[in-house]
Amino acid sequence: MIKNEVKTTCSYCGVGCGIIVKKDANNKVFVEGDKDHPVNKGMLCSKGMNLHYVANDVSDRILYPEMRWSRSHPRERVSWDDALDRAASVFKSIIKKHGPDSVGFYVSGQSLTEEYYIANKLTKGFIGTNNIDTNSRLCMSSAVVGYKKTFGEDSVPISYADIELADTFLITGANPAWCHPILFRRLEKHKEENPNVKIIVVDPRKTDTANFADIHLQLLPGTDVVLYNAIARCLYKRGLIDEDFIKNHTDGFQEYKDLIFKTSLKQASKICGVSEKDIQKAADTIGVSKGFISMWAMGLNQSVVGTDKNVSLLNLSLITGQVGKPGCGPFSLTGQPNAMGGREVGGMANLLAVHKDLMNEEHRREVAQFWGVDKINPKPGLTATEMFDALESGKLKAVWIACTNPLVSLPNLNRIEKAMENAKFVVVQDISHKSDTVAFADLVLPAAGWLEKEGTMTNSERRISYLPKEIDAPGEARPDVEIFCDFAKRMGFRGFNFNSSSEIYDEYAAMTKGTNIDVSYLNYDRLKNEGTFQWPVPEHRHEGTPRLFQNKKFYTASGNAKFNLPSSIENNSVLPNEDFPLILTTGRVRDQWHTMTKTGKVSRLKTHYPTPVLEIHPVDAYLYKIKNGDITEITSENGVVRVRASVTENIKKGVVFLPMHWGKQLQSNLNRANNLTNTHVDPVSKEPDFKFTRVSVSKH
Ligand code: SF4
Repeated sequence: MIKNEVKTTCSYCGVGCGIIVKKDANNKVFVEGDKDHPVNKGMLCSKGMNLHYVANDVSDRILYPEMRWSRSHPRERVSWDDALDRAASVFKSIIKKHGPDSVGFYVSGQSLTEEYYIANKLTKGFIGTNNIDTNSRLCMSSAVVGYKKTFGEDSVPISYADIELADTFLITGANPAWCHPILFRRLEKHKEENPNVKIIVVDPRKTDTANFADIHLQLLPGTDVVLYNAIARCLYKRGLIDEDFIKNHTDGFQEYKDLIFKTSLKQASKICGVSEKDIQKAADTIGVSKGFISMWAMGLNQSVVGTDKNVSLLNLSLITGQVGKPGCGPFSLTGQPNAMGGREVGGMANLLAVHKDLMNEEHRREVAQFWGVDKINPKPGLTATEMFDALESGKLKAVWIACTNPLVSLPNLNRIEKAMENAKFVVVQDISHKSDTVAFADLVLPAAGWLEKEGTMTNSERRISYLPKEIDAPGEARPDVEIFCDFAKRMGFRGFNFNSSSEIYDEYAAMTKGTNIDVSYLNYDRLKNEGTFQWPVPEHRHEGTPRLFQNKKFYTASGNAKFNLPSSIENNSVLPNEDFPLILTTGRVRDQWHTMTKTGKVSRLKTHYPTPVLEIHPVDAYLYKIKNGDITEITSENGVVRVRASVTENIKKGVVFLPMHWGKQLQSNLNRANNLTNTHVDPVSKEPDFKFTRVSVSKH
């Protein structure tokens, strides 16, 4: 018998589907899609529809704070007072001795906006360091830089509703059929109902998304910039550009035009491994489109040239004038449910809250004034990979890791393990003992999970939703905001006396007043009573903003959008050689999510892709004497993985693929794709090069 029913949002990907949660008399929860929700209209993917198993099964949950007094002692249960007093005392003593830059926080795109805001206020405002970064660095930071360079601010211009208004889609470096399934379902339905809709997919793999495409450009990894420039060249030559938009609303076109004509179509075809005919066909399709949307995810972002790939793709929206109108525009697909919310509150080492710029003295002064502190440290903080480099070198002494599992998700895991062993003090704040990172913790803090706390999140289309607390957290687990505020008070900081998440949200919302992400007229009452809103919501009774830049005024100094040139058209990844002749690319599978601490608990989600396998092309398999199903050893300069081979033409020759979800806890050390991946990062976005590591393979 159902006792209670509430509306909330899925805690997995950035699509942000609405869920109705029902609770019975025994406090067991059940989920179903919310038919009234504008995003999913009642649909849920396999992950979302099984979320109740995750919420009901607390067998893996961390129930009490645990602490060890030294590395030679086991961790033991302690009270919250003992745990947070120790954390404050260790942090104070390290900061006193080595300065505020000797500590850091590593948080998550799964954190709620209020949690993200408080962690940033604590670190940047009160501890006095910008050493707070997030796992969104591994996912969205190249897109953030691309948007800032092109539009003047990190602003996704469009909505899912634009999908049904568009006729041409360029999906590049993304597999939404598996990783953003409900968004993809909308796209499928739109094409089924409108056969004139054209889908172009750019991917070295024949994914389910590529199988649905009218044109699949199976490019060589790392050559995206050359491909987009070649498409632009074809558009220009055919006269399929929007001269009026370029002249009146953009800067930098002449330099861009010079660049795209430096490489011939023939040269581009050779570099990318895609036929001239197919590049031309893609350009012609885009050029005659009345509504052109580009969609992308990790294939672009996770690269040493991630920024270059992003600006080059965004240039295609500018050259065709396909932005600021219904049914068109660039649309980055966020992997995590609240990566966007984290960016709003400045959740990265180089950002400040409400889209203020850390490098801008006036912005630092405004933020400091708002928080009532003397100043914000002007020195950019350590980014995700830099933080672990600094733990390894000893520059960073203490790290506080919340709601993320870097011991599976970061590149070059053997090095990350060494870094963690070298840390003087590690705090892990999480929900699950299944996180590999917990093994390295001196202090473990049990956090409340989905449905066990309230707060807000923002999905890929700038849509803010309210998530209610529906069930009690098990054991002594507490909401992350409570933990951070309690710690801050023990550090002696004022400004953390909040009585509820609502008060934290209100403080953040007040801070947005007058900015481009103004939500000062949006509060918990409106979110609870009226549903979700897309920012900005800058006036009383404002209904939110589905589409940005309709007036063709961009957030740059000139008000125009900017054509940016890539720093180089070369792929700066470390290229294959005789010893490591193949390119490894990593990615996700349909029914698993991140490091499987949640989806790994659900038996029915394990059937689709039960164990990690190496996808290898038949020609490469023949060359390296590997048969389908053989145990294969994959080696890079960083480590080794041993998994079975899947010999398939779905992968481009010269490229192999491994899924990234599996960690040590779930199976074995040798299943971790990130044993192999390299530590190179994009020089601007600092996003790692997960999609390009040179490897060798052999039969084990
Ligand atoms: Fe959840 Fe994403 Fe699936 Fe929607 S598409 S149900 S948000 S995992």
